[in-house]
Amino acid sequence: MTAEPSRARLLEGGPIAEEIRRAVAEDVAAFTARRGRAPGLRVVIVGRDAPSAVYLERILRGCAKVGIDAGFVELEGEATEASVAAAVRTLNDDPAVDGVIVQMPLPPTIRLRSVIEAIDPAKDIDGIHPLNAGLLRLGYDGFLPATAHAAIEILRRSGIEIAGREAVVIGRSAVVGMPAAFMLVKEDATVTVCHSRTTDLAAHVRRADIVVVAAGRPGLITGQMLKPGAVVVDVGINVVDGHIVGDVDFASAVEVASAITPVPGGVGPLTNAILLTHLIRAAERQAPFDRTLPPTIPAVRPVLSGGDR
Ligand code: NAP
Repeated sequence: MTAEPSRARLLEGGPIAEEIRRAVAEDVAAFTARRGRAPGLRVVIVGRDAPSAVYLERILRGCAKVGIDAGFVELEGEATEASVAAAVRTLNDDPAVDGVIVQMPLPPTIRLRSVIEAIDPAKDIDGIHPLNAGLLRLGYDGFLPATAHAAIEILRRSGIEIAGREAVVIGRSAVVGMPAAFMLVKEDATVTVCHSRTTDLAAHVRRADIVVVAAGRPGLITGQMLKPGAVVVDVGINVVDGHIVGDVDFASAVEVASAITPVPGGVGPLTNAILLTHLIRAAERQAPFDRTLPPTIPAVRPVLSGGDR
């Protein structure tokens, strides 16, 4: 009698997202009772295509369900860099707005950097401002990019051990790959970051206990590349023949991995729930927030100052 090949456990984002939303709803109710207003989120959207309309609709619906006051500011597709930055600054100055998201991608005529830098770091709930990116790099407590946070949170909440394990992150973008890698380092994994110039991707992946894939390349990672028992987090979202698929060839990977996130239904559903937790945190922090450094940062002794050497 031959044993059935074991299939990986599915790490589904939906139930975890539901659990998070229930906790957020309680926090929102408490905040609203205390402050006499609901926490406020605004999305800045420049021009509207079908995917961004769906994304926006999802955020607004998710917020409404938990009692968050969410809305959007829409600028025409021909908006200038200055007008987008001005819209962001208006929201920065609005005390009823606790979190600001700028819907990506922006039209190619608008430099991403000028818009990102316009966001008040205290309202930057998707962690894209350089201050928040720097805090993450230093291991301090700022706002994390929601997708990367969701990718790591699904591991934590599924009871996957991270400390001491070999992790390979595929993708080095500022919004997904690099923040996921820094979070894994903070969780005490040993981390390798791969990208399009990595010479032997399969050799790196084969060593990994945890593989986080965020490349935007369907079928990039196959079961044959994985170490048996690896845990796979597939962040990729691609449309192939009208279907949403990830970056991992699910059919072959599910036979080799010990746990894997499905696409759709893995990291995606968790991302929006995570964003809501960032918003409530921003709302709680608005009043005491120091515009240069979050209050949780401990006093740091200067390293290599004259007296220390
Ligand atoms: P991105 O900015 O295009 O970055 C892709 C990264 O993958 C780059 O670092 C690139 O390397 C690397 N890469 C591309 N081809 C590769 C290859 N053949 N081998 C190894 N590395 C390769 O994309 P992103 O914004 O990080 O998004 C990544 C994926 O996540 C996309 O599919 C996106 O749709 C998805 N996503 C999902 C969510 C969610 O909620 N689940 C949210 C946001 C994004 P180089 O740096 O060398 O170019």
